[in-house]
Amino acid sequence: MLLSQSFIPILKNNPSEAKIKSHQLMLRVGMIKQASAGIYSWLPLGFKVMKKIEEIVRQEQNKIGAQEILMPTIQSSEIWKESGRYEDYGEEMLRIKDRQNREMLYGPTNEEQVTEIFRSSLKSYKSLPQLLYHIQWKFRDEIRPRFGIMRGREFYMKDAYSFDVSDEEALYSYNKFFLSYLRTFKRLSLTAIPMAADTGPIGGNLSHEFIILADTGESKIFTDKRIFDLNSNDTELEKNSLQQMRKKYEQYYSVTDEKFNKEEFEKVVSEENRLITKGIEVGHIFYFGDKYSKAMGASVDLPGGKKDFVKMGSYGIGVSRLVGAIIEAKYDNKNEIMKWPLSVAPYDIALVPMINKNDTSALDKAINIFKELTINNIESIIDDTEENFSSKIKKMNLIGAPYQIIIGKKSDGDLLEFKEIGKETQNLSLTKIIETIKKQKNSN
Ligand code: ATP
Ligand code: MG
Repeated sequence: MLLSQSFIPILKNNPSEAKIKSHQLMLRVGMIKQASAGIYSWLPLGFKVMKKIEEIVRQEQNKIGAQEILMPTIQSSEIWKESGRYEDYGEEMLRIKDRQNREMLYGPTNEEQVTEIFRSSLKSYKSLPQLLYHIQWKFRDEIRPRFGIMRGREFYMKDAYSFDVSDEEALYSYNKFFLSYLRTFKRLSLTAIPMAADTGPIGGNLSHEFIILADTGESKIFTDKRIFDLNSNDTELEKNSLQQMRKKYEQYYSVTDEKFNKEEFEKVVSEENRLITKGIEVGHIFYFGDKYSKAMGASVDLPGGKKDFVKMGSYGIGVSRLVGAIIEAKYDNKNEIMKWPLSVAPYDIALVPMINKNDTSALDKAINIFKELTINNIESIIDDTEENFSSKIKKMNLIGAPYQIIIGKKSDGDLLEFKEIGKETQNLSLTKIIETIKKQKNSN
């Protein structure tokens, strides 16, 4: 891709309306464009990153046996009246009337819709467990939308739902999602800590929020630092190993403020291990048993001939919020350098030829390198503008491809001036560069 041909409207300075670095960067490099309060268009650069995040989320859902569906954004109020949440949800729900005067709504979440699908399709314990998910836009009329897409009104979410025959089986499903979340965030190169959380309007009795540390986060957290040293993402999908894995996390005190109890915190966590800080909620999982299945009559036949309501859980990941969360975690806004994790980078590598008016040889060379990289499934962007070198580098540092090749005096013959952002420049052959990037890609 040539920079001159791409739709990447870069601003010279940080826009003043943005208060946190993710919002600043996203507006600065034209990843998003506000349409109205809390509602955004996604421009090519932002959309590419979000789609890559979505694909990782999807792969990790599939790995635990969850099946992808797609439910609509617009739902009927009927099912929400059955569950009792039509009134309870309050002003955050965007209510709409169709031309027949029927009450509809823009879905803020999908427990009702998925329960309705389940109850009209499956009737026997033999079909269980079922893990279903979709990745779809949600709307919540947040009272204070802010920080760009971090707290939007319209946002993109992966939400999954589990259906099981008993509490024990349902906890097994819960633990599968717990593991898949650890794996997902690791592939996004984020350290997300599971914290015991309140169940809020979703209801129920077991819940974890997955939180990444950030000063600009809106969740206050209280934790035992040692939880950061855990690494369980390679646990097997077997019942006992999953239970052990969750226990390993739960042995350390780690909660959000709704669950915080000072006395307990100080009793179980020694002073040097206490950490009180802020974070961003990127995922949230709930177990709520038969809360919806009972209200909506979703039951299955049991082996002995009796019937029982299915036991359900729900599992969300903020796909659009993750774009901002990764920036919060990775952007050095003092030096204005973004380095996207290779797994979600909009481009793997930036090619920066030093172009003179009368000499296009550096650009020609860049185009040849581009072709060779493309054959090897490495996505690159060429800055083909005639700006000076330092402003070119400045731009590429904001776009945030993790690698750069400078094509100028020093990239002579076969050796190219190659740089991984934040590391020393090296002189490497193109073959070696391709090998380095491929190796890095495969490790993810
Ligand atoms: P929050 O506490 O941040 O308001 P929530 O607890 O209401 O979030 P859930 O219902 O648990 O959100 O939704 C699942 C995930 O969707 C959250 O973990 C978060 O990553 C994301 N999310 C929720 N609300 C928003 C929003 N307004 N904008 C962007 N992402 C959101
Ligand atoms: Mg939540």
